[in-house]
Formats: sequence, C-alpha cells, structure tokens
Amino acid sequence: MRMNDYQAEKIRGVLSTIKDKSPFYGEKFKGIDLSGVRTQEDFERLPFTDKEELRGAYPLGLSAVPEREIVRIHSSSGTTGVPVIIPYTKKDVEDWGTMFERCYRMAGLGPDDIVQVTPGYGLWTAGIGFQYGAEKLGAMVIPMGPGNTDKQIKMMTDLHSTVLGSTSSYALLLSEEIKKRGIKDKISLRKGVIGSERWGDKMRQRIADDLGVELYDIYGLTEIYGPGIGISCSYENGIHMWDDYLYFEVVDPRTGEVLPDGQVGELVITTLLKEGAPLIRYRTHDLTRIMTGDCPCGARYPRIDIITGRTDDMVKVRGTNIFPAQFDGVLSGMEDVESEYQVMIDHLEGKDIVTVFFETKAPEKKRPAIEKEAMRRLKEAISITVVPKAVNVGDLPRSEKKTNRIFDNRY
Ligand code: ZN
Repeated sequence: MRMNDYQAEKIRGVLSTIKDKSPFYGEKFKGIDLSGVRTQEDFERLPFTDKEELRGAYPLGLSAVPEREIVRIHSSSGTTGVPVIIPYTKKDVEDWGTMFERCYRMAGLGPDDIVQVTPGYGLWTAGIGFQYGAEKLGAMVIPMGPGNTDKQIKMMTDLHSTVLGSTSSYALLLSEEIKKRGIKDKISLRKGVIGSERWGDKMRQRIADDLGVELYDIYGLTEIYGPGIGISCSYENGIHMWDDYLYFEVVDPRTGEVLPDGQVGELVITTLLKEGAPLIRYRTHDLTRIMTGDCPCGARYPRIDIITGRTDDMVKVRGTNIFPAQFDGVLSGMEDVESEYQVMIDHLEGKDIVTVFFETKAPEKKRPAIEKEAMRRLKEAISITVVPKAVNVGDLPRSEKKTNRIFDNRY
C-alpha cells in the first residue's frame, strides 16, 4: 500500500520533532538523521518499535508532552510483569472517540441504539473506548464490564439493549447461555460489535445465529489508542482502517521486510496525530494482510483482513510454521466439526506430537471416520500429521478472556 501525500506530510511532521519531544525516541533514534527521511522507502529503513522497548520506558518515558497536558493514562500488562503506560492528551482522547464513533456509524448504529458494554474497564482501554464512542454518537450506554452473566442478561432484557460490545469469547458464552435459557425472543439485540480476536467463521456464524444479530469486527490495541482504529463493514470484507489517523504496513515477521499487498504478515502501525505517545513503526504482532481492490460498501478507507493470528502463536513443528488460523480454516470447513478446538504439541520419545481436539455432535460410532477425515485435510493443508481427537460439545474450556488454542508443552 502506498503512503499517500497526507500521510507522508504528517509523518515528516512527527519525525521533525519527535527526538526533542520524546525521551524514548530521543534515545532510540540517536545518530539517525530524521530530516533525511523524505520518501516511503526512506521511512521503511527506520527501525521498528517493539513492546519490549516500551516496557523499558516505564513509567512515563514514552510521553512526548509536558506532564500537565496528559489527561489520562492507559496501560497494557502482558506476561512479564512490567506494564506499558500510554499517556493521552485531551486531543488524543477526543481523536480516539471520533474514530470509535466512526466505527459505530460504519456498523449502522445511531442515537436510538442502546449499547451494552461488556469488555473490562480500568487501566485497560476496552470498556471506556466502547463507552466514549457510543456517547459521542448519542447512543445510550450500559457500562456493564465483563462477567456476571445473570446480571448481563437481566439488563439486556429489561433495558432492551440493541447492541452488544464484547470480545468474541464472551459473546460466545452469552449466546450459548441465551440459547440454553430459551430467551432469544426476549432480547432486542440487532448488532454485535466484537473486539478484535482471531475467530473462526463457524464460531462467528453461531454467535450471529444464536443472538440473532449482525456482527462487526472492531480492531485496536492499547498502545495505539485502543479498540476503534478500524472495523468491518456489512459486506464482511475485511476491516476498514482509519488511515487519516494512522499509517499501516504489513511486514515479514522474521525479516522485517515490507510485504506486497495481499500477503500475510505482521501489521505495523505508525501514528500520524497522536500527541501523548506517538509511535513509529510499532509492531502489533498481529498477523493479517492488506486487502486489494475496492469494497462494495463504497468506503474509501483501506482494508486489512480479519486478524488470522499472532506472530507469538506461530510455532515451529518439525520445521514447519503453524498458527491457529490454519487449523480454523480446515476444521471450519468440516460439516461434523463444531467451532471449538484445541491443539496440543508434545515432545515424546524424540518426536513432536501434535494432537488436535475438536468438538462434534456426531455419535461415537461416526467419530473414527470424522477423525480420519480431519487428519487427512490437515495433512493436505498444513503438511503436518496430527493425532485427531473428537470430543463432545462443551468438553473444551470456554473463557471470558482471549482463548489460547495452541498449547506448546515441549519446553
Ligand atoms: Zn466495506
């Protein structure tokens, strides 16, 4: 995707002051003459920014404004313990709200809607992002936060929520509960705005059917405002991204080379307007591709594909790179296989063993044939021989958090 003139101008503007304003980039770009960065090719030679480095700037080393201009902070945790703190100016908060409002509009929402917000509140960006965007739109917000399914369903039926803001795992949990209780006719949901997580078509379809809603995938990450920097449209043709606020690249996660449009790689984002914590070539570790051609919805915003996985989820088995979306792609194409699955990788007697558990409604006697077919298709698609194990629906764990599906037990 070519950098447009507007983006190039904004990037030159950011680069002209970033070393002075941001202690983090002052250090990182030491010895690099940023005034020499004129073209997209120049820009592509700049080093990436990675989350690990942001941790080193704890607590406020990322800030590019005087502290009195910071109106809020958010934080992303992670497994290693040291949090990353992202400062926001008043304008950053407004810009984020404007982007999120644009997402809701693309999903066809308006002031008459009642948005039940189930992602978490607090240091995390999710809940408050869903809320502020909806308030800017003039919709009514029910700020539930996660969990407490009984209360969620009570509010949903009593207040006639029309929109569910949620993670895909929690939407699945709620939809199963609503189906189990047989109360679909008591709920007024018409749309679901679902936070970016890689999820299979089958799971998506099931949630849409059980809730009776149209689903939209919203994308974002705490380091870059939060959720709301892009959303799918009603054509379900990838995610439209707000390229007037951000510049997007897709790179080979191993070599760092920028990939041609259409090829799957790691999404890298540069902020064009962010004041509190501008980021240059930030590695998201999300796997996707830039989609080519125009979207039938007519929106001019460029599109990335639905996130197919994380670069961290990529695991090497017997010399082959595999990631969850590949299993998803194969299993979702099989009639007797349900949406939940789990992949276990073990090292036994000098060999890597890949066991794939999937849920099925089929009776015991049909299962060996289904397992054999799954094994055949996976071998064909991913060139890996797996041990297939069909289990009953409900046997695999559900979670209110992002669900990890590949478990590497080798180390
Ligand atoms: Zn579209």
